[in-house]
Amino acid sequence: MGLLLLVLVFAAACRGGVEALPVQAGDLEEQPVVVLDVGHGGNDPGKVGVDGSLEKDVNLEIAMRVKTYLEQSDIKVVMTREEDKGLYSEKDSRKKMADMKRRCELIEEVGPELVVSIHQNSYHEEYVSGGQVFYYKDSAKGKALAEILQKRFDYVLGENNRRLAKANGNYYLLLHVKCPIVIVECGFLSNRREAALLQQGEYQDRLAWTIHMGIIEYLNKR
Ligand SMILES: [Zn+2]
Repeated sequence: MGLLLLVLVFAAACRGGVEALPVQAGDLEEQPVVVLDVGHGGNDPGKVGVDGSLEKDVNLEIAMRVKTYLEQSDIKVVMTREEDKGLYSEKDSRKKMADMKRRCELIEEVGPELVVSIHQNSYHEEYVSGGQVFYYKDSAKGKALAEILQKRFDYVLGENNRRLAKANGNYYLLLHVKCPIVIVECGFLSNRREAALLQQGEYQDRLAWTIHMGIIEYLNKR
C-alpha cells in the first residue's frame, strides 16, 4: 500500500494538483548565470582593423558563439547586446558614458556569477598579436578567472601566446562592476594576419570554445 500511495502522490504531482510535492528547489536557482558583455556597438565601432573590419562586429560574432556553448552546458547567459546597437538612447548627449552606465546597471540587475566582456585589440605596430585578458587589480576572483582564460588561449594561439593576464585599475567596467569581471581582448585587428583570422567563423568558433571552457573551469572551482 505504501508504494501505491507513493505512486498516487507522484501522479498527482505530475498533474500539478494542489497536493503536488514541491519541485526540488534549486535546480533552476543553481543554474549559474553569466553575463557576456559585447563591447561597443551602434555608433561606436570600437577598434577599426587594418582591413577595415570593425571591432563591434567581431565582438558580437564571438560572443554569440560563446553564448551557444555556455547554454549547451546549462549555464544561463545574459547578453548586453545581441545586435549592432549601443546601450544608449538617441537623446543621450554623452552616448559612450550612457552606454557604459547602462551596461553596469544591467549587470547589477542580473547579479551574475561572473562577467566576460569581449573585445578586440589594436596597436600602432602591426607585428603585435595575440589574446590578452584583463582583470580589476584588487579582485582575486577576477584574477583567477583571467588567468584561466589567458592560459586557455594556448589552445588557440599555440606558442604565440606569450602574454599574461594583466591587472588594470582604470577600465570603466572593471572599476564599477562588483562581481568577478574580465575583459577578454581576443586578438589584434591591427595585425593583418590576425584581423583576417578574427573574421573567420572557424577561428571565432575556436575562440568561443576556449572562452566557454575557461568559464566552466572557473565555475567548477568556485
Ligand atoms: Zn573594445
